[in-house]
Amino acid sequence: MKNRQAKDEPGQSRGERAFDGIAVGAGIALGVVHRHSSRAMVQVRERRITQAKVRTEQHRVLEAAADAVGRIEVLQNRAKRMAGAAGEEVGYLLEAYQQMLSGSRLVRGVQKRIATDRINAEAAVMKEIGLMAEAFAAIEDQYLAARMADIREVGRRLVESLGKAESTGLEDLPANAVIVADELSPADTALLDPKRVAGLATILGGVESHTAIVARSLGLPAVVAPPELLNAVENGDEIIIDGTAGRVIVNPGAASLAKYKKRRAAFLRSQQSLKKLKTVPAVTRDGVRIHLHANMELPNEIAGVLNAGAEGIGLFRSEFMFMNRPDLPSEEEQFEELSRVVKKMNGRPVTVRTLDVGADKLGEAVGLTPGPNPALGLRAIRFSLKRRKLLLTQLSAILRASAFGPVRILLPMVCMVEEIKQVRRALARVIATLKRKGVRISDPPPPLGIMIEIPGAALAADALAAESDFFALGTNDLTQYTLAIDRSDEQVAYLYNPLHPAVLRLIQFTAEAASAAGIPVSVCGEMAGDERMTPVLLGFGITELSMNPASLPRVKKRILDLNLASISGQVRRMTAESDPQRLKAFVDTLYHAS
Ligand code: PEP
Ligand code: MG
Repeated sequence: MKNRQAKDEPGQSRGERAFDGIAVGAGIALGVVHRHSSRAMVQVRERRITQAKVRTEQHRVLEAAADAVGRIEVLQNRAKRMAGAAGEEVGYLLEAYQQMLSGSRLVRGVQKRIATDRINAEAAVMKEIGLMAEAFAAIEDQYLAARMADIREVGRRLVESLGKAESTGLEDLPANAVIVADELSPADTALLDPKRVAGLATILGGVESHTAIVARSLGLPAVVAPPELLNAVENGDEIIIDGTAGRVIVNPGAASLAKYKKRRAAFLRSQQSLKKLKTVPAVTRDGVRIHLHANMELPNEIAGVLNAGAEGIGLFRSEFMFMNRPDLPSEEEQFEELSRVVKKMNGRPVTVRTLDVGADKLGEAVGLTPGPNPALGLRAIRFSLKRRKLLLTQLSAILRASAFGPVRILLPMVCMVEEIKQVRRALARVIATLKRKGVRISDPPPPLGIMIEIPGAALAADALAAESDFFALGTNDLTQYTLAIDRSDEQVAYLYNPLHPAVLRLIQFTAEAASAAGIPVSVCGEMAGDERMTPVLLGFGITELSMNPASLPRVKKRILDLNLASISGQVRRMTAESDPQRLKAFVDTLYHAS
Protein backbone atom coordinates (compact mmCIF):
# COMPACT_ATOMS: atom_id res chain seq x y z
CA MET A 1 0.00 0.00 0.00
CA LYS A 2 1.08 3.58 -0.63
CA ASN A 3 2.22 5.58 2.32
CA ARG A 4 0.22 8.78 2.68
CA GLN A 5 1.97 10.85 5.33
CA ALA A 6 -0.21 13.90 4.78
CA LYS A 7 -3.22 11.97 5.97
CA ASP A 8 -1.72 11.52 9.39
CA GLU A 9 -2.39 15.07 10.37
CA PRO A 10 -5.22 15.40 12.83
CA GLY A 11 -8.14 17.56 11.87
CA GLN A 12 -7.87 16.91 8.14
CA SER A 13 -11.09 15.51 6.79
CA ARG A 14 -9.31 12.82 4.77
CA GLY A 15 -6.83 11.92 7.54
CA GLU A 16 -6.70 8.68 9.48
CA ARG A 17 -9.95 7.79 11.20
CA ALA A 18 -10.81 4.80 13.33
CA PHE A 19 -14.25 3.25 13.83
CA ASP A 20 -15.14 0.68 16.45
CA GLY A 21 -17.70 -1.96 15.59
CA ILE A 22 -18.45 -5.61 16.24
CA ALA A 23 -15.83 -8.22 15.34
CA VAL A 24 -17.46 -10.87 13.17
CA GLY A 25 -14.56 -12.49 11.27
CA ALA A 26 -11.08 -12.86 12.81
CA GLY A 27 -7.92 -11.65 11.09
CA ILE A 28 -6.42 -8.44 9.74
CA ALA A 29 -6.99 -7.07 6.24
CA LEU A 30 -5.08 -4.23 4.61
CA GLY A 31 -6.68 -3.21 1.36
CA VAL A 32 -8.57 -0.66 -0.72
CA VAL A 33 -12.18 0.36 -0.29
CA HIS A 34 -14.81 -0.92 -2.69
CA ARG A 35 -18.14 0.62 -1.79
CA HIS A 36 -21.15 -1.51 -2.50
CA SER A 37 -24.75 -0.49 -2.21
CA SER A 38 -27.33 -3.22 -2.10
CA ARG A 39 -30.05 -0.64 -2.54
CA ALA A 40 -28.67 1.06 -5.64
CA MET A 41 -30.12 0.43 -9.06
CA VAL A 42 -29.26 -3.09 -10.01
CA GLN A 43 -26.69 -3.60 -12.71
CA VAL A 44 -27.40 -6.05 -15.47
CA ARG A 45 -25.40 -7.56 -18.26
CA GLU A 46 -26.65 -7.33 -21.84
CA ARG A 47 -26.80 -10.64 -23.67
CA ARG A 48 -27.61 -11.18 -27.35
CA ILE A 49 -30.34 -13.76 -27.88
CA THR A 50 -31.39 -15.78 -30.90
CA GLN A 51 -34.70 -15.21 -32.70
CA ALA A 52 -35.92 -18.52 -31.24
CA LYS A 53 -35.44 -17.16 -27.69
CA VAL A 54 -37.42 -13.94 -28.22
CA ARG A 55 -40.77 -15.37 -27.15
CA THR A 56 -39.28 -16.98 -24.03
CA GLU A 57 -37.73 -13.69 -22.95
CA GLN A 58 -40.96 -11.81 -23.63
CA HIS A 59 -42.84 -14.35 -21.58
CA ARG A 60 -40.36 -13.94 -18.72
CA VAL A 61 -41.15 -10.22 -18.66
CA LEU A 62 -44.87 -10.90 -18.28
CA GLU A 63 -44.24 -13.39 -15.49
CA ALA A 64 -41.86 -11.01 -13.75
CA ALA A 65 -44.38 -8.17 -13.98
CA ALA A 66 -47.04 -10.40 -12.40
CA ASP A 67 -44.59 -11.40 -9.67
CA ALA A 68 -43.66 -7.78 -8.97
CA VAL A 69 -47.36 -6.84 -8.80
CA GLY A 70 -47.86 -9.62 -6.23
CA ARG A 71 -45.01 -8.34 -4.10
CA ILE A 72 -46.35 -4.82 -4.22
CA GLU A 73 -49.69 -6.18 -3.05
CA VAL A 74 -47.98 -7.42 0.11
CA LEU A 75 -46.56 -3.93 0.64
CA GLN A 76 -50.02 -2.46 0.10
CA ASN A 77 -51.41 -4.64 2.85
CA ARG A 78 -48.71 -3.33 5.11
CA ALA A 79 -49.45 0.26 4.05
CA LYS A 80 -53.07 -0.25 5.08
CA ARG A 81 -51.85 -0.86 8.61
CA MET A 82 -49.85 2.41 8.60
CA ALA A 83 -51.36 5.25 10.55
CA GLY A 84 -53.22 8.19 8.92
CA ALA A 85 -52.13 10.04 5.81
CA ALA A 86 -48.81 8.22 5.47
CA GLY A 87 -50.61 4.96 4.76
CA GLU A 88 -52.84 6.61 2.18
CA GLU A 89 -49.93 8.32 0.45
CA VAL A 90 -47.90 5.12 0.26
CA GLY A 91 -51.00 3.26 -0.90
CA TYR A 92 -51.45 5.62 -3.89
CA LEU A 93 -47.83 5.32 -4.83
CA LEU A 94 -47.92 1.54 -4.75
CA GLU A 95 -51.06 1.52 -6.81
CA ALA A 96 -49.29 3.66 -9.39
CA TYR A 97 -46.42 1.13 -9.44
CA GLN A 98 -48.88 -1.66 -10.04
CA GLN A 99 -50.46 0.20 -12.93
CA MET A 100 -47.03 0.77 -14.46
CA LEU A 101 -46.42 -2.95 -14.26
CA SER A 102 -49.75 -4.16 -15.62
CA GLY A 103 -49.63 -4.16 -19.40
CA SER A 104 -48.24 -0.64 -19.36
CA ARG A 105 -46.12 1.32 -21.78
CA LEU A 106 -43.08 0.06 -19.86
CA VAL A 107 -43.90 -3.63 -20.17
CA ARG A 108 -44.97 -3.31 -23.81
CA GLY A 109 -41.88 -1.26 -24.57
CA VAL A 110 -39.63 -3.89 -23.02
CA GLN A 111 -41.26 -6.67 -25.00
CA LYS A 112 -40.85 -4.75 -28.23
CA ARG A 113 -37.21 -4.01 -27.46
CA ILE A 114 -36.45 -7.70 -26.82
CA ALA A 115 -37.71 -8.43 -30.35
CA THR A 116 -36.06 -5.48 -32.15
CA ASP A 117 -32.69 -5.46 -30.35
CA ARG A 118 -32.63 -9.23 -29.68
CA ILE A 119 -31.39 -8.78 -26.15
CA ASN A 120 -32.21 -10.43 -22.82
CA ALA A 121 -35.17 -9.21 -20.78
CA GLU A 122 -33.10 -7.60 -18.01
CA ALA A 123 -31.11 -5.50 -20.48
CA ALA A 124 -34.29 -4.53 -22.34
CA VAL A 125 -35.82 -3.24 -19.08
CA MET A 126 -32.76 -1.12 -18.41
CA LYS A 127 -32.80 0.33 -21.92
CA GLU A 128 -36.46 1.28 -21.74
CA ILE A 129 -35.96 2.89 -18.35
CA GLY A 130 -32.98 4.82 -19.74
CA LEU A 131 -35.05 6.14 -22.67
CA MET A 132 -37.92 7.16 -20.43
CA ALA A 133 -35.45 8.95 -18.15
CA GLU A 134 -34.09 10.94 -21.09
CA ALA A 135 -37.58 11.97 -22.11
CA PHE A 136 -38.45 13.06 -18.56
CA ALA A 137 -35.16 14.92 -18.13
CA ALA A 138 -36.09 17.18 -21.05
CA ILE A 139 -39.14 18.48 -19.17
CA GLU A 140 -38.39 20.83 -16.30
CA ASP A 141 -41.00 19.90 -13.77
CA GLN A 142 -40.42 18.83 -10.21
CA TYR A 143 -43.48 16.60 -10.14
CA LEU A 144 -42.34 14.72 -13.24
CA ALA A 145 -38.80 14.46 -11.89
CA ALA A 146 -40.21 12.65 -8.88
CA ARG A 147 -42.17 10.33 -11.18
CA MET A 148 -38.88 9.41 -12.83
CA ALA A 149 -37.61 8.08 -9.51
CA ASP A 150 -40.78 5.99 -9.39
CA ILE A 151 -40.16 4.60 -12.85
CA ARG A 152 -36.64 3.61 -11.84
CA GLU A 153 -38.04 1.90 -8.77
CA VAL A 154 -40.52 -0.03 -10.89
CA GLY A 155 -37.70 -1.00 -13.27
CA ARG A 156 -35.61 -2.19 -10.35
CA ARG A 157 -38.46 -4.31 -9.08
CA LEU A 158 -39.01 -5.76 -12.52
CA VAL A 159 -35.36 -6.72 -12.88
CA GLU A 160 -35.41 -8.23 -9.40
CA SER A 161 -38.45 -10.29 -10.27
CA LEU A 162 -36.71 -11.45 -13.40
CA GLY A 163 -34.61 -13.53 -11.08
CA LYS A 164 -32.28 -11.22 -9.25
CA ALA A 165 -29.77 -8.97 -10.90
CA GLU A 166 -27.32 -10.81 -13.08
CA SER A 167 -24.52 -8.67 -11.82
CA THR A 168 -24.23 -7.07 -8.41
CA GLY A 169 -21.02 -5.21 -9.21
CA LEU A 170 -19.21 -7.63 -6.93
CA GLU A 171 -17.80 -9.77 -9.69
CA ASP A 172 -15.15 -7.42 -11.07
CA LEU A 173 -13.41 -6.28 -7.95
CA PRO A 174 -9.93 -4.77 -7.73
CA ALA A 175 -7.35 -6.97 -6.04
CA ASN A 176 -7.26 -6.64 -2.24
CA ALA A 177 -10.72 -5.12 -2.15
CA VAL A 178 -12.31 -4.38 1.19
CA ILE A 179 -16.04 -4.24 0.67
CA VAL A 180 -17.74 -1.45 2.59
CA ALA A 181 -21.50 -1.81 2.33
CA ASP A 182 -24.74 -1.01 4.09
CA GLU A 183 -25.41 -4.71 3.98
CA LEU A 184 -24.61 -7.75 1.93
CA SER A 185 -27.32 -10.27 1.27
CA PRO A 186 -26.31 -13.93 1.68
CA ALA A 187 -26.63 -14.15 -2.11
CA ASP A 188 -24.18 -11.23 -2.57
CA THR A 189 -21.71 -12.82 -0.19
CA ALA A 190 -21.95 -16.07 -2.08
CA LEU A 191 -20.71 -14.26 -5.20
CA LEU A 192 -17.56 -12.92 -3.56
CA ASP A 193 -14.27 -14.21 -4.87
CA PRO A 194 -12.11 -14.73 -1.76
CA LYS A 195 -8.98 -14.34 -3.89
CA ARG A 196 -9.84 -10.70 -4.63
CA VAL A 197 -11.59 -9.75 -1.41
CA ALA A 198 -9.39 -8.95 1.58
CA GLY A 199 -12.13 -8.13 4.09
CA LEU A 200 -15.59 -6.77 4.78
CA ALA A 201 -17.20 -3.96 6.75
CA THR A 202 -20.98 -3.81 6.73
CA ILE A 203 -23.23 -1.47 8.61
CA LEU A 204 -26.10 -3.87 9.17
CA GLY A 205 -25.99 -7.37 10.60
CA GLY A 206 -24.86 -9.07 13.79
CA VAL A 207 -22.33 -11.70 14.84
CA GLU A 208 -24.57 -14.59 13.85
CA SER A 209 -26.04 -12.97 10.73
CA HIS A 210 -25.63 -15.06 7.62
CA THR A 211 -23.22 -12.60 6.08
CA ALA A 212 -20.99 -12.91 9.13
CA ILE A 213 -21.15 -16.70 8.94
CA VAL A 214 -20.18 -16.74 5.27
CA ALA A 215 -17.37 -14.22 5.91
CA ARG A 216 -15.95 -16.48 8.58
CA SER A 217 -16.26 -19.57 6.46
CA LEU A 218 -14.38 -17.83 3.66
CA GLY A 219 -11.77 -16.79 6.25
CA LEU A 220 -12.38 -13.06 5.62
CA PRO A 221 -11.66 -10.52 8.35
CA ALA A 222 -14.99 -8.75 8.92
CA VAL A 223 -16.47 -6.06 11.12
CA VAL A 224 -20.01 -4.78 11.55
CA ALA A 225 -19.22 -1.06 11.57
CA PRO A 226 -21.06 2.08 12.70
CA PRO A 227 -23.08 3.90 9.98
CA GLU A 228 -20.65 6.89 9.88
CA LEU A 229 -18.15 4.65 8.13
CA LEU A 230 -20.14 4.77 4.88
CA ASN A 231 -19.78 8.56 4.65
CA ALA A 232 -16.12 8.48 5.60
CA VAL A 233 -14.84 6.35 2.72
CA GLU A 234 -14.47 6.66 -1.02
CA ASN A 235 -13.61 3.99 -3.53
CA GLY A 236 -9.87 3.42 -3.59
CA ASP A 237 -9.20 4.69 -0.04
CA GLU A 238 -6.77 2.64 1.97
CA ILE A 239 -8.42 0.76 4.80
CA ILE A 240 -7.55 -1.68 7.57
CA ILE A 241 -10.04 -4.17 8.97
CA ASP A 242 -9.14 -5.62 12.33
CA GLY A 243 -11.68 -8.41 12.43
CA THR A 244 -10.32 -9.73 15.71
CA ALA A 245 -10.76 -6.51 17.71
CA GLY A 246 -13.68 -5.12 15.69
CA ARG A 247 -11.89 -1.98 14.46
CA VAL A 248 -11.82 -0.25 11.07
CA ILE A 249 -9.14 2.31 10.19
CA VAL A 250 -9.61 4.49 7.13
CA ASN A 251 -6.65 6.18 5.43
CA PRO A 252 -4.16 4.81 7.96
CA GLY A 253 -0.99 6.72 8.68
CA ALA A 254 2.47 5.19 8.60
CA ALA A 255 2.44 4.18 12.27
CA SER A 256 -0.89 2.34 11.99
CA LEU A 257 0.16 0.64 8.78
CA ALA A 258 3.33 -0.66 10.38
CA LYS A 259 1.49 -1.80 13.51
CA TYR A 260 -1.20 -3.69 11.60
CA LYS A 261 1.25 -5.28 9.18
CA LYS A 262 2.98 -6.76 12.23
CA ARG A 263 -0.33 -7.93 13.68
CA ARG A 264 -1.34 -9.52 10.42
CA ALA A 265 1.96 -11.38 10.22
CA ALA A 266 1.52 -12.64 13.81
CA PHE A 267 -2.04 -13.77 13.05
CA LEU A 268 -0.90 -15.66 9.95
CA ARG A 269 1.96 -17.27 11.91
CA SER A 270 -0.43 -18.57 14.58
CA GLN A 271 -2.73 -19.92 11.84
CA GLN A 272 0.27 -21.71 10.35
CA SER A 273 1.26 -23.36 13.63
CA LEU A 274 -2.32 -24.56 14.20
CA LYS A 275 -2.26 -26.20 10.78
CA LYS A 276 0.20 -28.73 12.18
CA LEU A 277 -2.67 -30.18 14.21
CA LYS A 278 -4.55 -31.18 11.07
CA THR A 279 -4.10 -34.94 11.42
CA VAL A 280 -3.97 -35.05 15.23
CA PRO A 281 -7.19 -36.59 16.66
CA ALA A 282 -9.17 -34.35 19.03
CA VAL A 283 -8.78 -36.13 22.39
CA THR A 284 -8.89 -34.40 25.77
CA ARG A 285 -5.96 -34.86 28.17
CA ASP A 286 -8.03 -37.43 30.07
CA GLY A 287 -8.77 -39.42 26.94
CA VAL A 288 -12.26 -38.32 25.79
CA ARG A 289 -12.52 -38.45 22.01
CA ILE A 290 -14.33 -35.47 20.47
CA HIS A 291 -15.44 -35.41 16.82
CA LEU A 292 -14.86 -32.18 14.96
CA HIS A 293 -16.91 -31.58 11.83
CA ALA A 294 -17.19 -28.63 9.48
CA ASN A 295 -20.11 -26.46 8.43
CA MET A 296 -20.37 -25.71 4.73
CA GLU A 297 -22.39 -23.03 3.01
CA LEU A 298 -20.75 -22.80 -0.39
CA PRO A 299 -19.38 -25.52 -2.70
CA ASN A 300 -15.97 -23.87 -3.02
CA GLU A 301 -15.36 -24.37 0.70
CA ILE A 302 -14.67 -28.07 0.35
CA ALA A 303 -10.90 -27.52 0.04
CA GLY A 304 -10.96 -25.55 3.33
CA VAL A 305 -12.97 -28.33 4.99
CA LEU A 306 -10.42 -30.96 3.98
CA ASN A 307 -7.47 -28.72 4.85
CA ALA A 308 -8.80 -28.13 8.35
CA GLY A 309 -8.80 -31.89 8.95
CA ALA A 310 -12.58 -32.09 9.54
CA GLU A 311 -13.88 -35.61 10.23
CA GLY A 312 -17.03 -34.92 8.29
CA ILE A 313 -19.52 -32.22 7.37
CA GLY A 314 -21.81 -31.66 10.35
CA LEU A 315 -23.96 -29.08 8.59
CA PHE A 316 -24.26 -28.66 4.85
CA ARG A 317 -26.50 -25.63 4.32
CA SER A 318 -28.20 -26.51 1.05
CA GLU A 319 -29.47 -22.95 0.49
CA PHE A 320 -26.61 -21.97 -1.82
CA MET A 321 -27.96 -24.23 -4.55
CA PHE A 322 -31.02 -21.99 -4.65
CA MET A 323 -29.16 -18.66 -4.72
CA ASN A 324 -28.49 -16.26 -7.57
CA ARG A 325 -30.80 -17.92 -10.03
CA PRO A 326 -34.28 -17.20 -11.35
CA ASP A 327 -35.57 -20.79 -11.09
CA LEU A 328 -35.38 -23.75 -8.73
CA PRO A 329 -32.53 -26.24 -9.11
CA SER A 330 -33.59 -29.53 -10.68
CA GLU A 331 -33.09 -32.88 -8.92
CA GLU A 332 -30.26 -33.60 -11.31
CA GLU A 333 -28.43 -30.36 -10.47
CA GLN A 334 -28.81 -30.95 -6.74
CA PHE A 335 -27.67 -34.54 -7.11
CA GLU A 336 -24.56 -33.44 -9.07
CA GLU A 337 -23.61 -30.90 -6.42
CA LEU A 338 -24.26 -33.20 -3.45
CA SER A 339 -22.62 -36.28 -4.90
CA ARG A 340 -19.53 -34.20 -5.77
CA VAL A 341 -19.21 -33.19 -2.10
CA VAL A 342 -19.92 -36.72 -0.82
CA LYS A 343 -17.27 -38.17 -3.14
CA LYS A 344 -14.73 -35.51 -2.13
CA MET A 345 -15.32 -36.32 1.54
CA ASN A 346 -14.17 -39.81 0.71
CA GLY A 347 -16.04 -41.91 3.28
CA ARG A 348 -16.48 -39.17 5.89
CA PRO A 349 -20.12 -38.37 6.75
CA VAL A 350 -21.94 -35.46 5.10
CA THR A 351 -24.96 -34.07 6.97
CA VAL A 352 -27.22 -32.39 4.42
CA ARG A 353 -29.77 -30.00 5.82
CA THR A 354 -32.92 -29.59 3.74
CA LEU A 355 -33.74 -26.12 2.50
CA ASP A 356 -33.82 -23.55 5.31
CA VAL A 357 -35.55 -20.59 3.65
CA GLY A 358 -37.40 -17.74 5.26
CA ALA A 359 -36.71 -14.68 7.39
CA ASP A 360 -33.33 -13.39 6.22
CA LYS A 361 -32.67 -16.34 3.96
CA LEU A 362 -33.60 -16.52 0.30
CA GLY A 363 -37.33 -16.01 0.74
CA GLU A 364 -37.88 -14.17 -2.53
CA ALA A 365 -35.84 -16.59 -4.61
CA VAL A 366 -38.26 -19.44 -3.93
CA GLY A 367 -41.38 -17.30 -4.24
CA LEU A 368 -42.02 -17.13 -0.51
CA THR A 369 -44.12 -14.07 0.31
CA PRO A 370 -43.06 -12.86 3.73
CA GLY A 371 -45.81 -12.92 6.34
CA PRO A 372 -46.17 -10.23 9.01
CA ASN A 373 -43.30 -11.74 11.01
CA PRO A 374 -41.01 -13.79 8.77
CA ALA A 375 -38.88 -15.11 11.65
CA LEU A 376 -41.97 -16.73 13.11
CA GLY A 377 -43.69 -17.53 9.84
CA LEU A 378 -43.56 -19.97 7.01
CA ARG A 379 -39.93 -21.01 6.88
CA ALA A 380 -37.55 -23.96 6.84
CA ILE A 381 -39.26 -27.34 7.31
CA ARG A 382 -42.68 -25.67 7.48
CA PHE A 383 -42.12 -24.29 3.99
CA SER A 384 -40.78 -27.62 2.64
CA LEU A 385 -43.81 -29.46 3.98
CA LYS A 386 -46.10 -27.02 2.13
CA ARG A 387 -44.10 -27.21 -1.08
CA ARG A 388 -44.10 -31.01 -1.34
CA LYS A 389 -42.59 -31.14 -4.80
CA LEU A 390 -39.59 -29.13 -3.64
CA LEU A 391 -39.13 -31.42 -0.62
CA LEU A 392 -39.49 -34.66 -2.60
CA THR A 393 -37.02 -33.40 -5.22
CA GLN A 394 -34.49 -32.52 -2.55
CA LEU A 395 -34.92 -35.81 -0.67
CA SER A 396 -34.51 -37.75 -3.88
CA ALA A 397 -31.27 -35.90 -4.75
CA ILE A 398 -29.89 -36.49 -1.23
CA LEU A 399 -30.80 -40.20 -1.31
CA ARG A 400 -29.13 -40.67 -4.69
CA ALA A 401 -25.97 -38.95 -3.39
CA SER A 402 -25.96 -41.38 -0.45
CA ALA A 403 -24.86 -44.12 -2.86
CA PHE A 404 -21.40 -42.48 -2.89
CA GLY A 405 -20.69 -42.27 0.84
CA PRO A 406 -22.27 -41.80 4.27
CA VAL A 407 -24.97 -39.14 4.26
CA ARG A 408 -27.27 -37.90 7.03
CA ILE A 409 -30.44 -35.89 6.47
CA LEU A 410 -31.06 -32.94 8.78
CA LEU A 411 -34.34 -30.99 9.08
CA PRO A 412 -34.26 -27.29 10.06
CA MET A 413 -36.60 -25.55 12.52
CA VAL A 414 -38.50 -28.63 13.63
CA CYS A 415 -40.73 -28.08 16.65
CA MET A 416 -43.28 -30.87 16.46
CA VAL A 417 -43.11 -34.65 16.30
CA GLU A 418 -45.69 -34.59 13.51
CA GLU A 419 -43.27 -32.69 11.26
CA ILE A 420 -40.71 -35.48 11.55
CA LYS A 421 -43.40 -38.11 10.91
CA GLN A 422 -44.49 -36.29 7.76
CA VAL A 423 -40.94 -36.19 6.45
CA ARG A 424 -40.46 -39.87 7.28
CA ARG A 425 -43.54 -40.68 5.19
CA ALA A 426 -42.24 -38.53 2.32
CA LEU A 427 -38.86 -40.20 2.61
CA ALA A 428 -40.39 -43.68 2.49
CA ARG A 429 -42.27 -42.68 -0.66
CA VAL A 430 -39.14 -41.38 -2.40
CA ILE A 431 -37.14 -44.47 -1.36
CA ALA A 432 -39.85 -46.75 -2.79
CA THR A 433 -39.88 -44.83 -6.09
CA LEU A 434 -36.10 -44.91 -6.42
CA LYS A 435 -35.97 -48.63 -5.63
CA ARG A 436 -38.68 -49.33 -8.18
CA LYS A 437 -36.61 -47.54 -10.80
CA GLY A 438 -33.50 -49.48 -9.75
CA VAL A 439 -31.66 -46.31 -8.61
CA ARG A 440 -28.85 -46.99 -6.15
CA ILE A 441 -29.06 -45.48 -2.62
CA SER A 442 -27.25 -46.35 0.61
CA ASP A 443 -28.37 -49.43 2.51
CA PRO A 444 -29.59 -48.79 5.19
CA PRO A 445 -30.97 -45.42 4.05
CA PRO A 446 -29.49 -42.26 5.63
CA PRO A 447 -30.40 -41.44 9.24
CA LEU A 448 -32.91 -38.61 9.71
CA GLY A 449 -32.08 -35.99 12.32
CA ILE A 450 -33.40 -32.61 13.38
CA MET A 451 -32.03 -29.21 14.29
CA ILE A 452 -32.87 -28.18 17.83
CA GLU A 453 -33.04 -24.43 17.41
CA ILE A 454 -36.49 -23.46 18.68
CA PRO A 455 -36.81 -23.19 22.47
CA GLY A 456 -39.99 -25.28 22.37
CA ALA A 457 -38.11 -28.05 20.56
CA ALA A 458 -35.38 -28.01 23.20
CA LEU A 459 -37.97 -28.28 25.97
CA ALA A 460 -39.70 -31.13 24.12
CA ALA A 461 -36.39 -32.77 23.19
CA ASP A 462 -37.35 -36.01 24.98
CA ALA A 463 -40.45 -36.43 22.80
CA LEU A 464 -38.66 -35.39 19.60
CA ALA A 465 -35.78 -37.79 20.35
CA ALA A 466 -38.18 -40.73 20.04
CA GLU A 467 -38.66 -39.92 16.34
CA SER A 468 -35.15 -38.66 15.49
CA ASP A 469 -31.96 -40.51 14.68
CA PHE A 470 -29.80 -37.58 15.85
CA PHE A 471 -29.93 -33.98 17.06
CA ALA A 472 -27.95 -30.96 15.89
CA LEU A 473 -28.17 -27.97 18.21
CA GLY A 474 -28.52 -24.75 16.22
CA THR A 475 -27.42 -22.34 18.90
CA ASN A 476 -27.66 -19.29 16.63
CA ASP A 477 -31.40 -19.52 16.24
CA LEU A 478 -31.85 -21.04 19.68
CA THR A 479 -30.31 -17.89 21.18
CA GLN A 480 -32.31 -15.61 18.88
CA TYR A 481 -35.66 -17.21 19.72
CA THR A 482 -34.99 -17.74 23.41
CA LEU A 483 -33.99 -14.14 24.02
CA ALA A 484 -36.30 -12.60 21.36
CA ILE A 485 -33.32 -10.91 19.72
CA ASP A 486 -33.05 -10.81 15.95
CA ARG A 487 -29.60 -12.21 15.20
CA SER A 488 -29.17 -9.89 12.21
CA ASP A 489 -30.28 -6.67 13.90
CA GLU A 490 -27.26 -4.64 14.93
CA GLN A 491 -29.39 -2.43 17.20
CA VAL A 492 -29.90 -5.28 19.65
CA ALA A 493 -26.65 -7.12 18.93
CA TYR A 494 -25.33 -6.14 22.38
CA LEU A 495 -28.08 -8.27 23.96
CA TYR A 496 -27.39 -11.37 21.87
CA ASN A 497 -25.78 -13.72 24.36
CA PRO A 498 -25.52 -17.49 23.91
CA LEU A 499 -24.25 -17.54 27.49
CA HIS A 500 -27.58 -16.44 28.86
CA PRO A 501 -28.63 -18.95 31.56
CA ALA A 502 -31.82 -19.74 29.62
CA VAL A 503 -29.86 -20.73 26.51
CA LEU A 504 -27.38 -22.81 28.48
CA ARG A 505 -30.17 -24.66 30.27
CA LEU A 506 -31.86 -25.49 26.96
CA ILE A 507 -28.59 -26.86 25.60
CA GLN A 508 -28.08 -28.94 28.71
CA PHE A 509 -31.65 -30.24 28.64
CA THR A 510 -31.29 -31.23 24.98
CA ALA A 511 -27.97 -32.99 25.59
CA GLU A 512 -29.50 -34.95 28.48
CA ALA A 513 -32.59 -35.92 26.46
CA ALA A 514 -30.40 -37.16 23.59
CA SER A 515 -28.24 -39.15 25.97
CA ALA A 516 -31.31 -40.71 27.64
CA ALA A 517 -32.69 -41.71 24.22
CA GLY A 518 -29.28 -42.99 23.10
CA ILE A 519 -29.03 -40.73 20.04
CA PRO A 520 -26.03 -38.58 19.09
CA VAL A 521 -26.18 -34.81 19.59
CA SER A 522 -23.87 -32.23 18.07
CA VAL A 523 -23.65 -28.44 18.24
CA CYS A 524 -23.47 -26.75 14.86
CA GLY A 525 -24.24 -23.11 15.71
CA GLU A 526 -21.43 -20.53 15.83
CA MET A 527 -20.88 -21.37 19.51
CA ALA A 528 -19.23 -24.62 18.42
CA GLY A 529 -16.44 -22.65 16.73
CA ASP A 530 -15.78 -20.42 19.74
CA GLU A 531 -12.99 -22.05 21.73
CA ARG A 532 -14.03 -20.12 24.84
CA MET A 533 -17.21 -22.22 24.84
CA THR A 534 -15.49 -25.57 24.24
CA PRO A 535 -15.13 -26.57 27.95
CA VAL A 536 -18.79 -25.72 28.61
CA LEU A 537 -20.15 -27.74 25.69
CA LEU A 538 -17.92 -30.72 26.46
CA GLY A 539 -18.93 -30.42 30.12
CA PHE A 540 -22.57 -30.86 29.01
CA GLY A 541 -21.54 -34.21 27.51
CA ILE A 542 -21.45 -33.04 23.89
CA THR A 543 -18.84 -34.95 21.92
CA GLU A 544 -19.47 -33.66 18.40
CA LEU A 545 -18.98 -30.08 17.29
CA SER A 546 -19.46 -28.70 13.80
CA MET A 547 -18.09 -25.27 12.88
CA ASN A 548 -16.65 -23.12 10.15
CA PRO A 549 -13.42 -24.79 9.05
CA ALA A 550 -11.28 -21.76 9.96
CA SER A 551 -12.14 -22.21 13.67
CA LEU A 552 -11.51 -25.95 13.79
CA PRO A 553 -7.76 -25.91 14.59
CA ARG A 554 -8.24 -23.42 17.47
CA VAL A 555 -11.02 -25.53 18.99
CA LYS A 556 -8.93 -28.66 18.58
CA LYS A 557 -6.02 -27.01 20.39
CA ARG A 558 -8.34 -26.18 23.30
CA ILE A 559 -9.57 -29.81 23.46
CA LEU A 560 -6.03 -31.18 23.47
CA ASP A 561 -5.19 -28.95 26.46
CA LEU A 562 -8.31 -29.80 28.46
CA ASN A 563 -8.80 -32.24 31.33
CA LEU A 564 -12.54 -32.83 31.10
CA ALA A 565 -12.92 -34.75 34.37
CA SER A 566 -11.48 -31.85 36.31
CA ILE A 567 -14.03 -29.32 35.04
CA SER A 568 -17.21 -31.42 34.84
CA GLY A 569 -18.24 -30.57 38.41
CA GLN A 570 -17.79 -26.86 37.72
CA VAL A 571 -19.94 -27.05 34.57
CA ARG A 572 -22.71 -28.75 36.55
CA ARG A 573 -22.59 -26.00 39.17
CA MET A 574 -22.59 -23.44 36.44
CA THR A 575 -26.07 -24.36 35.19
CA ALA A 576 -27.50 -23.58 38.62
CA GLU A 577 -26.20 -20.02 38.18
CA SER A 578 -28.72 -17.47 36.97
CA ASP A 579 -26.72 -14.27 36.90
CA PRO A 580 -25.30 -13.63 33.40
CA GLN A 581 -22.28 -11.71 34.74
CA ARG A 582 -21.27 -14.53 37.10
CA LEU A 583 -21.85 -17.01 34.28
CA LYS A 584 -19.45 -15.11 32.08
CA ALA A 585 -16.86 -15.20 34.87
CA PHE A 586 -17.42 -18.97 35.14
CA VAL A 587 -16.81 -19.40 31.43
CA ASP A 588 -13.61 -17.33 31.66
CA THR A 589 -12.34 -19.54 34.49
CA LEU A 590 -13.19 -22.70 32.56
CA TYR A 591 -11.49 -21.32 29.48
CA HIS A 592 -8.22 -21.03 31.31
CA ALA A 593 -8.59 -24.38 33.12
CA SER A 594 -6.45 -27.24 31.90
C1 PEP B 1 -28.29 -22.23 13.88
O1 PEP B 1 -29.38 -21.64 13.86
O2 PEP B 1 -27.55 -22.29 14.88
C2 PEP B 1 -27.79 -22.91 12.65
C3 PEP B 1 -26.71 -23.65 12.68
O3 PEP B 1 -28.49 -22.72 11.50
P1 PEP B 1 -28.39 -21.38 10.61
O4 PEP B 1 -27.27 -20.54 11.16
O5 PEP B 1 -28.15 -21.82 9.21
O6 PEP B 1 -29.75 -20.77 10.81
MG1 MG C 1 -30.79 -22.00 12.22
